[in-house]
Amino acid sequence: MVAAADLEAAERVVAELREACAARLDEVAAAMEAEMRAGLREEGGSKIKMIVSFVDNLPTGNEEGVFYALDLGGTNFRVLRVQLAGKDRRVAKRDSKEVSIPPHLMSGNASELFGFIASALAKYVAAAGEGDGRQRELGFTFSFPVRQTSIASGTLIKWTKAFSVDDAVGEDVVAELQTAMEKQGVDMRVAALINDTVGTLAAGRYNDEDVVVGVILGTGSNAAYVEEASAIPKLKLEGGELPKSGNMVINTEWGNFYSPCLPITEYDQALDEESLNPGEQIFEKLVSGMYLGEIVRRVLLKIASQSSILGDVSHTNLKTRFSLRYFYVSLLFRELPVPYGKKKRELMLIKQTLLLRLAFRTPDISAMHHDGTPDLRVVAEKLADNLRVRDTSLDTRKMVVEICDIVTGRSARLAAAGIVGILRKIGRAAPGDERRSVVAIDGGLFEHYAEFRKRLEATLVELLGEEASRLVEVKLTKDGSGLGAALIAAAHSQY
Ligand code: ADP
Ligand code: MG
Repeated sequence: MVAAADLEAAERVVAELREACAARLDEVAAAMEAEMRAGLREEGGSKIKMIVSFVDNLPTGNEEGVFYALDLGGTNFRVLRVQLAGKDRRVAKRDSKEVSIPPHLMSGNASELFGFIASALAKYVAAAGEGDGRQRELGFTFSFPVRQTSIASGTLIKWTKAFSVDDAVGEDVVAELQTAMEKQGVDMRVAALINDTVGTLAAGRYNDEDVVVGVILGTGSNAAYVEEASAIPKLKLEGGELPKSGNMVINTEWGNFYSPCLPITEYDQALDEESLNPGEQIFEKLVSGMYLGEIVRRVLLKIASQSSILGDVSHTNLKTRFSLRYFYVSLLFRELPVPYGKKKRELMLIKQTLLLRLAFRTPDISAMHHDGTPDLRVVAEKLADNLRVRDTSLDTRKMVVEICDIVTGRSARLAAAGIVGILRKIGRAAPGDERRSVVAIDGGLFEHYAEFRKRLEATLVELLGEEASRLVEVKLTKDGSGLGAALIAAAHSQY
């Protein structure tokens, strides 16, 4: 039996967590809006970059023809082909292929990497049997930081994730791709360079003309929205003319949002200090799926230091830290290409699975949070399997669920406050506004974590009020990074 004093000590930690995670969401929304304005005023005006995407037309649904997309951002890349058939028939045909990138090309040189991509594209196009001799257009989703210079050009600022192709940094990635395509004899024009957030906005808009914001809530978090070109002081276009549409899509890069009103706890501070990018992406570290499990682990470790309800820490995995683990997992995570042989691939997969089991990931948090069994069996299993915390009491398991609820609740509420900040910036959902405003959202956190989604939607109502929120809708919009790129290519077609 656990002593009552022990449980009390643990409950105190949870009560403090609850307090520290409570945020004045109206202030957060206002700060987001203010930072957006500052970022639009001048380059470097805010921690959020407010990148001008040069996408001034979003798809209307009337687009027709065959368009391609390339999606490069993770460990696999995808080639996609769509046949658009106008207002009524929409996406008449759609086909895609996933190709894994050999690890040695991820840290090789640019011409090899882009050569590999172009040759995969060439094979795909050949298989599709393009026979009419017409030049096709392609949208390129490149989910790395890029300084965009036009709709179809941008220089790579730095690689992230598993990539480090040094000689590509500072180069125009579209020019690199275009050159590689020519070498492979692919007659195609890169019509647009975008990231996944802008793609989600475009895919959302294609299906619903009232979509004005696109949000990613997955491993990371970001948002893009439609701004009035005249409301972007830092926008300097060639010839000084504003786009005909009067609009410009802004990629906010809100993951890097910071404000003193954010509810940052001791656990977040420690996580940030030990992360791969300390001091950066603070909003993302409070919101996105990459970090929720790690925050919960840190709270449990604190409880273990103040009470004995989780047993002896030294017999558990409670101390296995995130950064190191993530480093190994990211190395092991990619599927190895065939030359590595079946045996080695299998070994790597086993190792990867073992490493992942040493911790909580967001799907684990979600499973515990939704545990409907009377004795919280799922929670008991996750604690035992992932952290080697065994023989927990029902009270302890209830406490774990409560921690998940606090941490995920904070994430969902902050995401909602961010969305409200954007809506306020563009004068949406204000008293008297009769327009419908739709937010297209993609990402596993939003898609698979029901309680997260519920909380996000409830918070929108809380912040906007019953009346105004009736005209605001959030919509799961999958595949923005593939289909979205093809749609933007179509909307910016030269033909
Ligand atoms: P990415 O963000 O890498 O492009 P996704 O949009 O598919 O990929 O999001 C993956 C993320 O979604 C995971 O890192 C995880 O945080 C979250 N996620 C995936 N599955 C679940 C789940 N069942 N429950 C809760 N969160 C999940
Ligand atoms: Mg994604």
